[in-house]
Amino acid sequence: MTAEPTPGGAVAPSPLRMLASLAHPDDESFGPGGTLALYASRGVEVHLICATRGDVGTVDPSYLTGFDTVAELRQAELECAGQALGLHVVHQLGYRDSGMPGSPDNQHAHALAAAPLEAVVEKVTHVIRQVRPQVVITFDPIGGYHHPDHIRMFEATLAAFHAAADPTRFPDGLEPYRPQKLYYHTFSRRWLKLVVRLMPLLGMNPRAWGRNNDIDLTAVTNHDLPIHAIIDISDSAEAKQLASACHASQTDEDDSPGFLLNWLRRLGRNQETFMRGYPEPAPGLRETDLFAGVAPARSSVANGEAETVGVRRAGL
Ligand SMILES: [Zn+2]
Repeated sequence: MTAEPTPGGAVAPSPLRMLASLAHPDDESFGPGGTLALYASRGVEVHLICATRGDVGTVDPSYLTGFDTVAELRQAELECAGQALGLHVVHQLGYRDSGMPGSPDNQHAHALAAAPLEAVVEKVTHVIRQVRPQVVITFDPIGGYHHPDHIRMFEATLAAFHAAADPTRFPDGLEPYRPQKLYYHTFSRRWLKLVVRLMPLLGMNPRAWGRNNDIDLTAVTNHDLPIHAIIDISDSAEAKQLASACHASQTDEDDSPGFLLNWLRRLGRNQETFMRGYPEPAPGLRETDLFAGVAPARSSVANGEAETVGVRRAGL
């Protein structure tokens, strides 16, 4: 990467920047956390959009000691994870968590899933113009597992990726900016199908997975999303694990019924996989670096970054 050691041993500011545009506190750690930590460790400035405060996550009351609300607890967990991953800035959009598909929280007036798409696109566009990342990451087209907030962020980020370069869209006093690459974090279908086949052998129902038994993994495998980039995260797997541990209120403790599941987890532990949204991938593309082919930035100075309401530094 381009970070250069200075005579004093410090690392000079890098002109490379990455923006992950996600929905809840924990998406960054349970999702592409290894990739975020890997690039941060290589000197890339890694930014995160967290669109909601995770208000409706289910939490054991024991975790709430010292916090007034679930959202407050989850903000503290996100701050901890941001430090573990080496995130530069967390940009909060301030929406309300919409809960799982079909829950009444989907309809709440401030819910991300109920917000007009254009309003979310405008907010993401603004962050892209501020941060000026070469590489943008978001959810895959089905929001990983059909979570309405994840799907909203996929839609908004895809639209904002293109809108940010267009001076006629959402003029905000910032210079238009065109990021170079867009990726969707997704799971290898081959791996996921193996998991779905093996789960019944462990007494688990792939149609009712997760802490609230509300994730249908079988439905997820029906969407065949291609993989265009495989990132080896063995060097950052520990950071990802530390960040995931920060989200203790959202972690299953009794969810390891056998060696087989642990073996499967280990199998997928050192890789994160991405589908490329832009530029359009050639058939059979397999990248191992999300910055492959990225032209150097014109300027390493982020645009008005500290002045934005709701921008919060993580771990600095
Ligand atoms: Zn989420």
